Amino acid sequence: MGRIYNFSAGPAVLPEEVLKEAAEEMLDYRGCGMSVMEMSHRSKVYDGIIKEAEKDLRELMNIPDNYKVLFLQGGASQQFAMIPMNLMKNKKAGYIVTGQWAKKAYQEAKIYGEAIELASSADKTFSYIPDCSDLDIPEDCDYVYICENNTIYGTKFKTLPDTKGHTLVADVSSCFLSEPVDVSKYGVIYGGVQKNIGPAGVVIVIIREDLITEDTLPGTPTMLKYKIHADNDSLYNTPPAYGIYICGKVFKWIKKMGGLTAMKEHNEKKAKILYDFLDESRLFKGTVVKEDRSLMNVPFVTGNEELDAKFVAEAKKAGFENLKGHRSVGGMRASIYNAMPVEGVEKLVEFMRKFEKENAE
Ligand SMILES: *Cc1c(COP(=O)(O)O)cnc(C)c1O
Repeated sequence: MGRIYNFSAGPAVLPEEVLKEAAEEMLDYRGCGMSVMEMSHRSKVYDGIIKEAEKDLRELMNIPDNYKVLFLQGGASQQFAMIPMNLMKNKKAGYIVTGQWAKKAYQEAKIYGEAIELASSADKTFSYIPDCSDLDIPEDCDYVYICENNTIYGTKFKTLPDTKGHTLVADVSSCFLSEPVDVSKYGVIYGGVQKNIGPAGVVIVIIREDLITEDTLPGTPTMLKYKIHADNDSLYNTPPAYGIYICGKVFKWIKKMGGLTAMKEHNEKKAKILYDFLDESRLFKGTVVKEDRSLMNVPFVTGNEELDAKFVAEAKKAGFENLKGHRSVGGMRASIYNAMPVEGVEKLVEFMRKFEKENAE
C-alpha cells in the first residue's frame, strides 16, 4: 500500500522527501557507520546537526541575535507551566482564551500566580478571535499570552493583540513556519514540532535574552529553567536528538521550497481551494468566522452527526485519513499543514463534491 493523504492535526504529515532522506541515512549517517539515533549528543557529528538546524531556523524566521533558540522536551503542554515559572516576576499575567490550548495554559498559570482572562471567545464556541485592540491590561502584568493558531477550532490571529508594551508570549504549535513572522514583536514564541515541523518529542522555544534570568519562581526545577538550557545550548541533558535531526531536514526542505513567503503562498492556495468549496457547498459548512479562518486547520460540518460519521468513514476508505474533528467539537477537520500537497486538498474537495451529490437532498 502507498501513502495516503493524512489530514491529522498532529502528529501530522511530513514531507516525503524528508522521510526518504532519513530512511537512506538510517543505518549509516553519512559514513559514520551508525544512525543519528545511536550517536552521542556530545559528538562532533551531532554538534554539527543541532548547530545547523538552529542556523537554518534562524535564517528562515529571520530571528534577531538577541533571541535564543532552545530545543526542549515535554511538549507544548510543559510550556504552560514553564512560562509562568520563568516569566511571572510580579505573579501576574494576562491570557487571551481562544480555545482549549489557551484555556489549559491559562489554568496552569493560575497555579503559579494571578492569571487574568483579558478576552475570550468561549461565548461562541471559540469560532472567532476576540477584538484585542484595546485590552484592559494591568500595568504590572508580566506578559500577555496567546495561542496564535487554534488547532481544534480553526481560528488564527490575523493581527497580534495590542499588548500596550507588555511582553507577548505565543503558542504557535500549529502555525510554526507556515508564513513569515516578525520575531521582534514577541518575547517568547514556542511550539511543539509535531504539528508542522517534525516528530513528537521536540518543543522549540524562541525567547528574547532579557527574559532569560536566574529569577524564577521558588521551587522551579532545574530542568524547567530557560537559563539552564540557554547556557548549555540545549545540551544541558540529552536532547531529543533524533527529532531535532528531522526538524533540521524539514528546515532545509522549507528553504528549498523558497522559505516562509513561498510557504505562505502554498498554504493560502490550499486553504482557498477548501474554503471556497465550503462557501458554495449545499452540504458542508465551515464553522469559523471568515476573517479569522486558519490556513492550517479547517473544521467543517454537515449539520447532521450521522452524515458526518458516514463522510469520515467513506473518506477513510477513499484514502483520506484523520478527517474526524476533535473529540470535543465533533464534525470534521482537515489539517493542511506545510507538507500537505495542493493535490491532496484538490482530491479531498473532489471527494467532498461527490459525497455531496450522493447525500444532499
Ligand atoms: C497540540 C497542541 C498543544 C499540545 O501539544 P503537546 O505537545 O501535546 O503538549 C498545545 N498547543 C497547541 C496550539 C497545539 O496545537
